[in-house]
Amino acid sequence: MKYLLLIPDGMADWRVEELGNRTPLEVADTPNMDFLAKEGACGMAKTVPEGYEPGSDVANLTILGIDVRKYYTGRGPIEALAKGIKGKLVFRCNLVFVENGIMVDYSANRIGDDEAKEVIEALNEALEYDFVRFHHGTSYRNLVTIDRDFDEDVKTTPPHDIQGEPISKYLPKDKELAKLLIDLMELSKRVVPEVTKKANMVWIWGGGKMPNFPKFKERWGVKGVMISEVDLLKGIGRGLGFEVVEVEGVTGYIDTNYKGLARAVLKSLKDKDFVVLHTEGIDEVGHEGDAEKKVEAISIYDEKIVGYLIDRLDLEETRIMLLPDHPTPVKVRTHVAEPVPFLIYGLKRDEVKRFDEFSCRKGKFGLIDGLKLMNLMFSK
Ligand SMILES: [Zn+2]
Repeated sequence: MKYLLLIPDGMADWRVEELGNRTPLEVADTPNMDFLAKEGACGMAKTVPEGYEPGSDVANLTILGIDVRKYYTGRGPIEALAKGIKGKLVFRCNLVFVENGIMVDYSANRIGDDEAKEVIEALNEALEYDFVRFHHGTSYRNLVTIDRDFDEDVKTTPPHDIQGEPISKYLPKDKELAKLLIDLMELSKRVVPEVTKKANMVWIWGGGKMPNFPKFKERWGVKGVMISEVDLLKGIGRGLGFEVVEVEGVTGYIDTNYKGLARAVLKSLKDKDFVVLHTEGIDEVGHEGDAEKKVEAISIYDEKIVGYLIDRLDLEETRIMLLPDHPTPVKVRTHVAEPVPFLIYGLKRDEVKRFDEFSCRKGKFGLIDGLKLMNLMFSK
C-alpha cells in the first residue's frame, strides 16, 4: 500500500456573502475531490491545539502526528531547521519600525531582501558577543541564534500582536536570557537606522531550543517524502527525517508549476511509501481576501493536482488523505484556529458526497483531534 497526503494550505473558509452564502470550496468546481470524498470517508479535524496560534507550522506538525504541546519550541527554531541554520537557541528577529516607543510596523515597511541583508550584516559587525549571530531570512523575517545554554524560558511577544502599543510593556523580563535579548534590541536601535529608513530596530521573539521531533519512520514504519514550495514545510520534513524533494519552477502562488509538483509525487511514490504534497497558492489568495480568486484557485488545484494524480495512480493500492492545514477565510484574510474538513480515500466509505466544510461534518469520523490523523492514515 502507498500513502499520499495532500495539504492545500489554507483552503478551508467561511460562508461568504458575495458567493451566495457559500464557502469558496462549496462554490468551486471540484469533481476530483468530490469523487475521493464520495468513495472514501470524511470528518473534521482540529489541527490547532487550544492556546496555540494557527500558524502553518503548528497545524502541519499536528497533522503529521507531532504533539506541539510537547515538541514545539517556537517559530524561530522551525525556520532555522528550514534554512539549515544551527544554534542552541534560535529566535525570530523581525526588523520593525517603532515610533515614540510604539510598535508602528512589525514588517519594516516590507523592507527588500538586499536592504535587510545589509542590516543583518551591520548587526553582526557591531555584536560584542561571539556566541550570538544574526541571520538573514526574507525581508523583515530574520533569525538570531544564541550558542549558549540558558536554563530558563523567556516569554516574548509576536510584534504583529502589539501594533499600536508601547513596546516597553512587552519586553522580555527577568533573568539572564531576557537581559541578553534586551541588550541585542538596544544595540539594534543604534545600528539599524544607520543602514535603512524602513526599520529602526529588531524585535526578538518566538524562540527556544532546536526541536527534537520523533522520527516519522520510527513511529509509522515508513520513510516520508516532503514536497513543498515553502521552506517551513521543508524544515518540518527534515525535522521528521523525510526526504525533501525540490521541484523547479514553483512559485508558492496559483501560477505555480502544478505539473512539476504532481509529477514529483508520482515519481516519489514509485519507490517510497508515504508522500506529502503541500501547496501554498490557495492560502495566498485567502490572505489577499479575494473570494472569486480563491474559488478559481481551488478549482485549478482540483484539476491540476488531484485530477492529474488520480488519473495516474493505482487507486486500488493507494490510500489518499486530503485536508487543508487551517482555514484562511477571505473575510479576515488570516489564519483561524477552527477545525478543517478532511477526507480519506481507501477506507470504508461513508455517506458524504462532496468535499467541503459542511458536508464533511456529517462524515463518519465526526470531529477528531488532528493528532489522530496519522492513526487513520495508517490504520489497518
Ligand atoms: Zn497563510
